[in-house]
Amino acid sequence: MIYIFLCVDFDRDAAFPALGHKHAVSQPKQAEMQYILADPEKSAEIQGSIEGFDQILSVLIQKKLPTVFYFEARTIDLISKRHPEFLERLNQSFFEKGVHGYDHEDLVGEETGLPLEKQEEFNLIKKAKERIEELFSTEVIGFRAPYMRLSENTQKILKDLDFVYDSSIYQESNKAIIPYSDEHGVIEFPVIKTPKESLMKGMYTYLWPLFEGKRGIKEIVSNYIQLIHNSTEDNTYISINLHSWHFAYNIEQNCYLSQKKIRKNTEFLVKLITKIEEIEGVHFSTPRLWLEENELLNNT
Ligand SMILES: [Zn+2]
Repeated sequence: MIYIFLCVDFDRDAAFPALGHKHAVSQPKQAEMQYILADPEKSAEIQGSIEGFDQILSVLIQKKLPTVFYFEARTIDLISKRHPEFLERLNQSFFEKGVHGYDHEDLVGEETGLPLEKQEEFNLIKKAKERIEELFSTEVIGFRAPYMRLSENTQKILKDLDFVYDSSIYQESNKAIIPYSDEHGVIEFPVIKTPKESLMKGMYTYLWPLFEGKRGIKEIVSNYIQLIHNSTEDNTYISINLHSWHFAYNIEQNCYLSQKKIRKNTEFLVKLITKIEEIEGVHFSTPRLWLEENELLNNT
């Protein structure tokens, strides 16, 4: 059996690092005044995640499709205040909830110029975990670093905060992979990047190029089918990774999309899911379910 993880990085619309700010700034807010950019809440726009994710959310709920969400705590906190009904729809038992920073911090300060001190990083990951657990009345065990960048302290911090797994590292592979334990005992679920010389031509398993119009749905579907066909080992997984706002916001054009375009983007993902569901020996799951089914999670 090959596992497929649908992973949604649920963040503010197009979260990007800004020099001199520890929190991310939404791309649509980048031309705002300095006092807005300096405020972690005011510099967060969530319109795209709400409008863009609405249609696919209904599909996922209707299908009861296991999905893992890595929530930026600020975004989900804002949703709880402004769109409580949306939060309710996200609160499904077949949706796994993980952490994706509090304000989508660049933990190593690579682009903000402000690396986080160890204690500061500990405090903010703790705060994010507690807020998400509180909002969904559930235990959170998974983490994905904003920008897929772990600091030298992150894994130890995750262990100390009772996270069981992380998913912030790319691994080159042309087939499904298995997770491994890091030096602190945190299980790492890498994200596949296919080799340049493979049939899939150096594809990150993020759907970024699909939503940006750089790769067509036909190519994406055939690449995932190729990845699955290359996979012969049991209990391996492939993750499909995407951003909540990407159905409704285009980075290169720097604009929000029409309802028609949102529908088109939703149909692309539905098509990919449906094509994968047709393949025998493959099933949609989540890292937590993988750990449970492989008896690596003993606290539940
Ligand atoms: Zn993100």
